[in-house]
Amino acid sequence: MKQIAILGSTGSIGSQTLDVVRQHPETFAVYALTAHRSVEMLIQQALEFNPAVVCIADETCYPRLRDALSDLPIQVMAGEKAIAQLVTHPAIDVVVAAMVGYAGLRPTIEAIKAKKTIALANKETLVVAGEIICRLAQRYKVDILPVDSEHSAIFQSLVGEDMASVEKLLLTASGGPFRTFTLDQMQNVTAAQALQHPNWEMGAKITIDSASMMNKGFEVIEARWLFDIPVEKIQVLVHPQSVVHSAVQFVDGSVKAQLGTPDMRMPIQYALTYPERWTSNVPRLDLFATQSLTFEEPDLKRFPNLALAYEAMNRAGNVPCILNAANEVVNLAFREGKCGFLQMSDIIAETMLKTTFIAEPTYEDYVLTDQEARRIASETLKL
Ligand code: MG
Repeated sequence: MKQIAILGSTGSIGSQTLDVVRQHPETFAVYALTAHRSVEMLIQQALEFNPAVVCIADETCYPRLRDALSDLPIQVMAGEKAIAQLVTHPAIDVVVAAMVGYAGLRPTIEAIKAKKTIALANKETLVVAGEIICRLAQRYKVDILPVDSEHSAIFQSLVGEDMASVEKLLLTASGGPFRTFTLDQMQNVTAAQALQHPNWEMGAKITIDSASMMNKGFEVIEARWLFDIPVEKIQVLVHPQSVVHSAVQFVDGSVKAQLGTPDMRMPIQYALTYPERWTSNVPRLDLFATQSLTFEEPDLKRFPNLALAYEAMNRAGNVPCILNAANEVVNLAFREGKCGFLQMSDIIAETMLKTTFIAEPTYEDYVLTDQEARRIASETLKL
């Protein structure tokens, strides 16, 4: 039995991970489930999967969780500190890091230090502190397996290959709902429009990040750290059909890609079963029904977030952490109708200029940078 801890189990990736567990009950067991504040859903999941531990980050939800599970042999915890502690339990084999945003950083660090295999869906962890995470993973000899579909595609294309023979990573992007919009049209788009992703079903935060292409910027940074490759060797291609999940170009000119239907259960399962490949009931790709596959260069004028992400990586130090913190502020503000769509990039750029630069940040520096950048972004936005 593989014992799994799922951080962020009530989110989109978390619940799809449980779906994968449901398909393979003889080999996967759920050791721990954690959620931010979706307490009712967490209770339902605990009743079905019977984990040893559940934890809710928002402590005001604790009494409800405790009372609902009081008849069961389930340890009930609350608070962010408790999440960072429970991942170190000796029984756990794999930690699925599927929380949203900066909150994933601390528990992922603790899980690496406890030598747990990490199935990483929380890309913000690598955006904020990729250098620290990779250094720790090396020191503790821990595998970080990508759950993000693009990175899983690259990872799968690299099986049996030597990184020295990689020329380029080809990172595909759907382009989101505003791919064909003019700047004028983008001026007035609403959160409801941005939440209509053409191909993928995802949580609200990442769907907005996809519409603004910040998600792709983050994925460039994520790929840089996961595959230890300079950002200049990562090419973003807008591929509206989302059939080619990403590809690798090698020094002999050969290109290997991974294709499939847009179903996150595929990369989730691969991360959980790697290096093996298990059966799955996800819908099969019908190439006869696939009309055409197209690829365009991304438009950095209409999607400046992608340029900001490259800039953050090039300035390095704590700048990617600033980028992430500012983005978390404007992403939420946009969803609440307090920030315009194009205004998001302006606020992020301004926050990147105003926040104190640190060339070689420690973990504590990242914590302070995150706070400072959030404050500056909120002030700039006059929240
Ligand atoms: Mg992705």
